[in-house]
Order: sequence, then structure tokens, then C-alpha cells
Amino acid sequence: MPEGDTIYRAARALQRAIGGKVVTGFETGLAKLARTNDDSPLTGRTVEKVESRGKWLLIYFSGDLILVTHMLMSGSWHLYRPGERWQMGRSRMRAVIRTEDWEAVAFNVPIAEFFTARSLERSSQIPQLGPDVLSDHFTVNTGVQRLMIHARENPEAEIAVSLLNQRVMAGMGNVYKSEVAFAAGVNPFRAMRTITAHEMEKMVEIAQRYMRANVVDGSSEGIVTYSGNRRTTHAMDREERLWVYGRQGQECRRCGATIMMRKQGPQARSTYWCPECQPWVGEGTAPVGNAVATAHKG
Ligand SMILES: [Zn+2]
Repeated sequence: MPEGDTIYRAARALQRAIGGKVVTGFETGLAKLARTNDDSPLTGRTVEKVESRGKWLLIYFSGDLILVTHMLMSGSWHLYRPGERWQMGRSRMRAVIRTEDWEAVAFNVPIAEFFTARSLERSSQIPQLGPDVLSDHFTVNTGVQRLMIHARENPEAEIAVSLLNQRVMAGMGNVYKSEVAFAAGVNPFRAMRTITAHEMEKMVEIAQRYMRANVVDGSSEGIVTYSGNRRTTHAMDREERLWVYGRQGQECRRCGATIMMRKQGPQARSTYWCPECQPWVGEGTAPVGNAVATAHKG
């Protein structure tokens, strides 16, 4: 699943290319979208803004129409110049928004739906998201407040599961979850009630810094993809870019101990950590992980 930073990047590239522009054409392979477009055509409307809300991408058109897409595993938005050859087959096209200068094409998006401001607000399908870590309005204090409220209501929730919870804070995915907990020295299996305000502050500050660093200031030209390499260690070498994610069985880059992996939470997502740098705090014994490297990630 794409992380929030890739969705954010896509939203920003789309905003730069088609934001404020008049729609000159719209095409879709989805019956539901086509029906709305037949009733109230997109052509002639202005793209007011494109934004990400966690893993959702929202394109606002004048006249109170919002195209909401979710990429899940397979979807992507591409930008092309008019007449430019698409990098994916036409059969995978789900929607095309044309302006004078650009074609924004959604390929394979499994969820794409039109909303009005009101229906979006009332939708139970689009979760009410917490503040987006990458939003300009997001501050460390905002994030700490969200974590504190969550801890009060869910004292036994594990911190790494809480970091992934898009209702607490939006945008963080499975890679950052492990990287942020490591960088803050917090064992990912600790209960929320054991996390100090200072630790929350460290994690939020690191999350914001890492995620911002991965929002590359590229031009809006070319293809928007979801395969961007994430970097959290400052190293340029692809293999040395992450502290713990995907590194079970290898040496910790800080202390040399063996990195562990264990499935965590209701969705059994892989969590990576260093048992030395991220000591256990709480009752009972520290959770034990698997140190044998496997090909599986996620
Ligand atoms: Zn370590």
C-alpha cells in the first residue's frame, strides 16, 4: 500500500499541473462516474484544488463536485502532456481529466467516486481522518495531542498500531511506523499508557521530518508513481536507507544487535525493531521477534 507521502506527492504534482485550470475533457471507464458526468458534466468546471487526506486523494471541482480516489495496492495517477503516449494500457484507465496543458490519468484505482462537500462529510466510507502529518498546518503539538487523546481512550493499544491508525494521525504507513519508533528509541509493542509525553513528542517530530524529507521537490512534469524510495538514515545507498524496516536478522546500524521482526496488530503487519535500542517498558516480558530473514515484507 502506498504510504501517505506518495499520495501527498501525487496530490501535489496534480495540484501543480491541473490546479486552478479549466477541465477541457473528462473520460471514464467507470459507470458510476460516467453517470454523474452525464448529469452534470465536468468539462467547463475549474479544478479548485487537489489534496491528500491520508491515503485518499481528493480532486475538488467548482460547482461542489469532488472526485475521491483510493489507490489501495494497484492504483496510480499519471500526468501526461496531450498526445503523449501513456505508460499503461487503455484498458486500465479508470478516469482522465483533461486541461489545456495536461492529461491526468487514473489507472487501476479500485475506489473512485464523486462526492459533494456534504456527502463527503457524511460518508462512512471515507474515514474521518486525523490531521495529516504532511499538512502545512500540522505541528508536533497537534500530533502529541492526538496521541494523548488516543492513549487516554485506548491505554492498552500498542504504539506501533496506534501510529498506523489514520484516525489518530493521517499519512503514516508501515515503513515509517517501524522507522519512527526506532529513531525515538520506543519499543513498538509498548502499551500507549507507558508512552511518555516526551516520547510522543520525539516520535511526532521524527515522523514529520522523515515524511517531509521524502516529499521530493521534483517538477510536476512526467509520471507520478508510487515506487519512490524512502530514506530515513541519510545514506544514499538504497540498501542503507532504512534503519530497521525489512532488516530482520541484520545488525542494528546503531548498536550492532540483531534486528527483529514480528507480526503486529489486527492486520498482522510486519514490525521491525532493535531490542537493544528500543527497550521494553511495561509488565511481563518483552515480545520476541523473528530474526530469520524472509523474502516477505509488509
Ligand atoms: Zn540497536
